[in-house]
Parts: sequence; C-alpha cells; structure tokens
Amino acid sequence: MTRVFNFSAGPAMLPEPVLERAREEMLDWNGTGMSVMEMSHRGKAFMSIAEEAERDLRALLSIPDNYRVLFLQGGASAQFAMVPMNLLRGKTRADYINTGAWSKKAIAEGRRFADVNVAATGEADGFNSIPVFDTWQLSGDAAYVHYTPNETIGGVEFHWIPRTGDTPLVADMSSTILSRPVDVSRYGVIYAGAQKNIGPAGLTIVIVREDLIGDATEGTPTMFDYRTHAENGSMYNTPPTYGWYLAGLVFKWLLDLGGLAAMAEINRRKAEKLYAAIDASDFYTNPVAIESRSWMNVPFTLAKPELDGEFLKEAESMGLTNLKGHRSVGGMRASIYNAMPEAGVSALVDFMTDFEQRKG
Ligand code: PMP
Repeated sequence: MTRVFNFSAGPAMLPEPVLERAREEMLDWNGTGMSVMEMSHRGKAFMSIAEEAERDLRALLSIPDNYRVLFLQGGASAQFAMVPMNLLRGKTRADYINTGAWSKKAIAEGRRFADVNVAATGEADGFNSIPVFDTWQLSGDAAYVHYTPNETIGGVEFHWIPRTGDTPLVADMSSTILSRPVDVSRYGVIYAGAQKNIGPAGLTIVIVREDLIGDATEGTPTMFDYRTHAENGSMYNTPPTYGWYLAGLVFKWLLDLGGLAAMAEINRRKAEKLYAAIDASDFYTNPVAIESRSWMNVPFTLAKPELDGEFLKEAESMGLTNLKGHRSVGGMRASIYNAMPEAGVSALVDFMTDFEQRKG
C-alpha cells in the first residue's frame, strides 16, 4: 500500500492514525460487536461517542459554556441559508464581507432572505487581499456581519478578527477551523463543513451562541431552525453518525498533538516553507498580498502555463496528487490542511524546485 500526499481542497487528507484506528474499530467498536455505522444513534454506545467528540472539540477550541455545538448535515452551503433564517430576528439588514468565491455564494443566498449590505469587498484588487478594516462600511442596524476567514479558492485568509461591537459576527470557517486557536467568544456563529480539517464529508459543525437560538424567522422549516438541533442534542433526526465518530477521532489526534497551538506552529511552518519556495523562484507565482496569505490553501501559477499538464502529471507520478487549481482560476493549488504532514510539503517543494531546474 502506498499512500499519497493528497493536496485536495476537500474532501482532504485525514490523519493516518485516525484512519488506522477507524480500521481497527471497523467491525467491532469497543466490544459492542458492531461497527459505529450500524449503531442506533440513541443507544448508549453512540451517545458516549457523540458526547466525547463534543467534549474534545470544546476543549480544543475552549468553547465557552454559553455556546452550543451542533452536528448537522447540509454542508456549509446549508448554513448560507440557516444563518439568515435564524439570525435576522425581526431585522431586515445583514452585512457581508466579500473576499472571494465563497463569500459570494454566502451573499447570493443571504439575498434570498435579507437586505444585504456588502460592507467591504476585495474586488478592486482581484480578491488578492483582505479589505482594510478602516474602509468597512458596516450598517449599524445589521442583524449580523458575515465573513469568510479563509477563502478556499483564492487562498486569502484573515489573520485577525473583525470588531463588530454588539452585532453578532458570523464566520464560515470551513477551510480554516482547527488550524490554529481562535477566540470563540468573539463570534455569534461559527460554521464549517467537515471535509477539510474535521473529518469526512457529510457532517457540518455549527458553534452558536445560546442567545441567538430560538428566534428563527416565521416559517423556517424545522430542520433549518437551530433550536430544533440545540434542543435535541443534534438528534432530532438521524445525524451523520460515522462522520461524527471520525471527527471525534480527529479531535483526539489534535489533543494528543498538543492542541491547536501546537497545530498552528506546524501549519505556520508548512505555509512558510511553501511560500518561501514560491517567492524565491521566478517560475512560480502566488498573487496574494503577503499579509493575507492563507495557511491552508496556496494557489500558484507557472510562468509557462503550457507546462501545467506536465507539472501535474509528474507530480502525480511522485505521489503528489490533486494539485490542479480550481476550475475558475486555473493554475495550481496546494491545500495543506492539518492532516498534510510536513514531509508532504517538503516533497512538494523539492519537486517544484527540480521541475523548475529542468523546465523553467
Ligand atoms: N465555504 C467554504 C469556505 C468552502 O471551502 C466550502 C467548500 N469547499 C463551502 C463553503 C461549501 O461547503 P459544503 O460543500 O460543505 O457545502
């Protein structure tokens, strides 16, 4: 068996110890004689798995007691609608920050429910930097401010948290959650699809401040109301049990590693190594402003785009897979989430250097 270094933006690599543990427990979880997939979500065994996963996530992120953690389905995309449905609370206006492709999706969906004010946009420089906070035109009467701390496609990331006063701050953390410590108390809602830093696709995690639950817009479907899930321990309907279990294994892996401060140090090293290699070369380019560069998604282009195909083919043959950039931007993109080992980034950098020497 040869495992590759998979640079996919998501579903992404999972930590190998997590996969091994899942394999060991596949047929018989803890003497129950069944796989976690076969368990009743309301039985004692799964309840213990579910509770432990939530406890570990709370420990990792130091989630304050007045926040609920929901284990949902529908991806981050469903949250684009659930956020306005639950947070407008009688108001009509919502502020959004547009930093690229995923912000735009959230904005488009938000417009179905709210009078959206785009308070800042990175459009002027091709979404290659985060708009300076001083230029933001926040409404004052907005029900919430929504932003995307890490743009998975553009590779721009906030390395700071916006100050929105009493207006709840909502973050789509799909591609950055658990990559570093974060002060949860600064947020009204944090949500993330699981398939990058949490676990397999199919699970969505929502961390929501308690006072924002229970006042969904009239007519909100039961499954879209945060209250439904908060009141039922995310078991109003059948939750994605296996994803929840695997997420729990990922949380344990992170705790064993030393938590998010330790993870952040590793992520910083990985990102610095890759950006340094790109910046040192005339052959590779990353267009993002240095202070807005993502630790998780690193897009880059070749000076000779006609070599893109060859680059990808050679990389693949060396076990460096899924480096093709998003179809909307082309070029390359290396997603280096938590589970990408430092050795994977080193192998990529070595390959890039060698390719440039031969073809550049
Ligand atoms: N937001 C961001 C920042 C993303 O990267 C993605 C997925 N790539 C989404 C939202 C959509 O997530 P999902 O597919 O879980 O709906």
